[in-house]
Amino acid sequence: MAKQRVLITGAAGFLGSHLCDRFISEGFQVVGMDNLITGNLSNIEHLFGNEHFTFMNHDVSNFVHVSGSLDYILHFASPASPIDYLKIPIQTLKVGSLGTHNLLGLAKEKKARMLIASTSEVYGDPMVHPQHEDYWGNVNPIGPRGVYDEAKRFQEAMTMAYHRFHGVETRIVRIFNTYGPRMRLNDGRVLPAFIGQALRGEDLTVFGDGSQTRSFCYVDDLIEGIYRLLMSDHAYPVNIGNPDEITIGEFAEEIIKLTGTAQKVIYKDLPKDDPKKRRPDITKAKELLDWSPKVDRSEGLKRTYAYFQTLSDEQLNETAHYNFEKYIKR
Ligand code: UDP
Repeated sequence: MAKQRVLITGAAGFLGSHLCDRFISEGFQVVGMDNLITGNLSNIEHLFGNEHFTFMNHDVSNFVHVSGSLDYILHFASPASPIDYLKIPIQTLKVGSLGTHNLLGLAKEKKARMLIASTSEVYGDPMVHPQHEDYWGNVNPIGPRGVYDEAKRFQEAMTMAYHRFHGVETRIVRIFNTYGPRMRLNDGRVLPAFIGQALRGEDLTVFGDGSQTRSFCYVDDLIEGIYRLLMSDHAYPVNIGNPDEITIGEFAEEIIKLTGTAQKVIYKDLPKDDPKKRRPDITKAKELLDWSPKVDRSEGLKRTYAYFQTLSDEQLNETAHYNFEKYIKR
């Protein structure tokens, strides 16, 4: 029997590249697509030359053509950190909205099942804690995060419309904070920010008083949850994340201990609309998918730190290696 074929958008990104690895190891033919604004080919260069992998350099906000059959589409193309939204706000809006529309059209045409990467950001600065899938959220549409949050909310609406109106098989994963090897060191997220600072001998920048919370999931656990959701028959959103909640202040102390840095914590202003707390309610994932995270934070952080230690000094000191200039005027 011919191999099943999957299209993964955002293939050169953090999560997309791990998905490519997973689907290849499961025996799929993988088509990876990325426009390389925030993605980096070094995340997938080990797959070049693999007969089960092909790469297409394409921006999914424009019409998407893929020849041949497709059984699954996973839409993971999007800037995904607050710093990126500020630098490329229009592209962030477009990839979540127009990009999703194009890919749903492709899924309909190919009779493929499509999974979209949604986010805990759909809950905004939540008034319900922990966040359950039935909570509708508290999002500021016109704030700096609005370009991401509203694109992702629109993406969910569009996906449900294709499911209900056109009968496309769809899956929606709401991803909570995730970390692991291949995160971009300079994307502004808290974990690479702290580890980068420790490795460069700089103080660790905690925003606000550090009392805000997050709940960090190791990438392998997340990928397992996504794989199970895709193979399930559940079309409604499912939270995937690790409910082990920690304040950012405590997290900084953990990184100081992990890296053995002699530096200290310094405090900076809290960015606008920064959610005060976040923790997934994963009851649904447990019941429907028999999934729960397996890697605890101390183990996950060790593995992630080992990855960052392999980076060169040049990579460590790069402040903006990604190629957004050519897109910014659009
Ligand atoms: N944060 C911080 N210092 C940094 C970067 C981020 O204290 O150098 C904080 C940020 O304000 C937020 C938390 O860490 O409260 C998580 O930020 P991140 O950008 O990783 O993810 P998100 O806010 O999207 O959950």
